Amino acid sequence: MTASYELRCRECGKGWGNQPKSICEECFSPLEVTYDYDEARRALSRERIGERPTNMWRYAELLPLPVNYRPSLPVGFTPLIRAPRLGEAFGTKRLLIKNDAVCLPTLSFKDRVVAVALANARAFGFDTVSCSSTGNLANSVAAQAAREGFKSWIFVPSGLEPAKILGTQVYGATLVPIEGSYDQVNRLCSQIADEHHWGFVNVNLRPYYAEGSKTFGFEIAEQLGWQLPDNVVVPMAGGSLITKIGKAFGELIKLGLVEDKPVKFFGAQATGCSPISTAIKTGTREIAPQKPATIARSLAIGNPADGHYAISTIRQSGGWAEDVPDAEIAQAMQLLAQTEGIFTETAGGVTVACAGRLYAQGRIAPGETTVLCITGNGLKTTDALTAAYQPAEPIPPRFAAFEDYLQATLNPTAEVA
Ligand SMILES: *Cc1c(COP(=O)(O)O)cnc(C)c1O
Ligand SMILES: [Zn+2]
Repeated sequence: MTASYELRCRECGKGWGNQPKSICEECFSPLEVTYDYDEARRALSRERIGERPTNMWRYAELLPLPVNYRPSLPVGFTPLIRAPRLGEAFGTKRLLIKNDAVCLPTLSFKDRVVAVALANARAFGFDTVSCSSTGNLANSVAAQAAREGFKSWIFVPSGLEPAKILGTQVYGATLVPIEGSYDQVNRLCSQIADEHHWGFVNVNLRPYYAEGSKTFGFEIAEQLGWQLPDNVVVPMAGGSLITKIGKAFGELIKLGLVEDKPVKFFGAQATGCSPISTAIKTGTREIAPQKPATIARSLAIGNPADGHYAISTIRQSGGWAEDVPDAEIAQAMQLLAQTEGIFTETAGGVTVACAGRLYAQGRIAPGETTVLCITGNGLKTTDALTAAYQPAEPIPPRFAAFEDYLQATLNPTAEVA
């Protein structure tokens, strides 16, 4: 049996079979996994998918998985929930949240891409897996490598959030902090991948890795009752997730699993690292790389690998992109927590804040169904909010002390009298 998928150059179309390779040697464009869609069409129906376990492997025919691959973790199928109270703040009744802050095993959507990458790392015979990361990818590679019995080497820019560092080391990974930006770390990893026989999930395994992001889109459609939304708002780092949600919707249409309808894609970035949203706003095709300076470290990629494809996805859909300063990111994290009970990391604050602006600008219509993509967990970036909350003085364990405290809290100005 041979695989029903293979690598193909996105620009010149040359086929490269299946191997750990991400760039076409003929024209230096990125490679992408392509499928035999006739085979997928025969194998998949809404009913057949619905009978399978509720995790991302239910879409196996649309993922690059080696023949006879047996997944060992129930990754994905996170909740898609209505968000009436946040919707009220934005003036809409038709807002939904896709909540990957609770994705297994490491509480971000990166668990999806890593799961697919490691399936291929095994098939290609790697015993060591690796990545350059802004934090969440580090956590996910380290955890899933431990589970699958790989050694792992993780490269990160120095100055990451402490929870993301500890949340990598705890799994026994070797963490290598690099004095430099993510973009410098990524360049270094390309050089290491050329010399060492390691499976870098987002370098030589990148085409396989990136396909895992499609499951985020498949789930949105299935959880809407096999329908596409009118709009999605997606945080962008390298620009892969937004591109792959677009590919996912296109595949579902091609296979007849959903009806064809227009979906607008809206990209969200932090102003302190906004190469993609800046290109959208200024109407250029060229991305000017930036030096990141933002609390949204998981999105801090100044030279986005899939920036061009993200721009195409957004433009062709009739969508738009926004970016927000750090103060708004922190406020939006609080707004989401206080309206919907979801504690997201800084990237989620970016998504919520940009969505608020897009409603205010009239670019998203309140009568349309809109899905916000919440991609990471707030417990990993608590430092973004420590300034917002003062540590409270303890009070004595007596009822009278509590009554005084209650009065002072409800009535802060009267306290002085
Ligand atoms: C990596 C990441 C993204 C964006 O991913 P790209 O596919 O590189 O655009 C979004 N949110 C979080 C929390 C991430 O860690
Ligand atoms: Zn090519």
